[in-house]
Amino acid sequence: MSTDILSLKMGVTSSYLLRGTSGIVMIDTGMPDKMKLFVKKIRSLHILPHDIKLVILTHSHIDHAGSAKEIQELTGAQVMIHKSEKECLEKCEFYPVNGTGTWGRISKQIFFPFLKRIKYSAPRIDIETGDEDFPLSGFGIDGYVMHTPGHTPGSVSVILNTGEAFVGCMSHSGFPFRTTPGLPLYASDIEKLKLSWKKLFEKGVKIIFPGHGKPFPAGIIRKRLASPEV
Ligand SMILES: [Zn+2]
Ligand SMILES: [Zn+2]
Repeated sequence: MSTDILSLKMGVTSSYLLRGTSGIVMIDTGMPDKMKLFVKKIRSLHILPHDIKLVILTHSHIDHAGSAKEIQELTGAQVMIHKSEKECLEKCEFYPVNGTGTWGRISKQIFFPFLKRIKYSAPRIDIETGDEDFPLSGFGIDGYVMHTPGHTPGSVSVILNTGEAFVGCMSHSGFPFRTTPGLPLYASDIEKLKLSWKKLFEKGVKIIFPGHGKPFPAGIIRKRLASPEV
């Protein structure tokens, strides 16, 4: 079973499409009101809306789940999220996170009031994942969803058996958050987040596809976490 990876930049959010043997799985949807961009991008990739069978939300924050309802309506895809993000998603609430460093603490004051004012609607949740790995073989993908809490309590990562990991906001790797790949600027529990990274390394992940920014080798974070200042 081979899986093609397509990057779909949805504004500030890095979404991804995984093309498996029975359709496409989308990871994260970007901010609200991104439908024009979404339609333009999938058209340029020669993908029909109905090819997308599943949307996995790495967590409930608006920049990942904001367009999920509209994408679900257009594609007919099922939406999957971890059970502990469900309530926030249904209420379109922003789960509180702290700055993990100075820029995180400052930028939080700039970005968050703006994010909290934006109105959007929640998608229908079709699949809730739990603490156990959720295999994606039923969607023709050689991989699984793993609970990786830390950025928020119900954050998940998608891991392919070939070593690619789609980690949402377990990492920030570009504008407007960081200039280089690294840990996220915000987390509800940074110690849990570090444990989740350990879990990912134990799975043998090689390439990290972050929720913001470009992919990078897993060794960058591994080195960072091994250094005494972290
Ligand atoms: Zn987030
Ligand atoms: Zn984000």
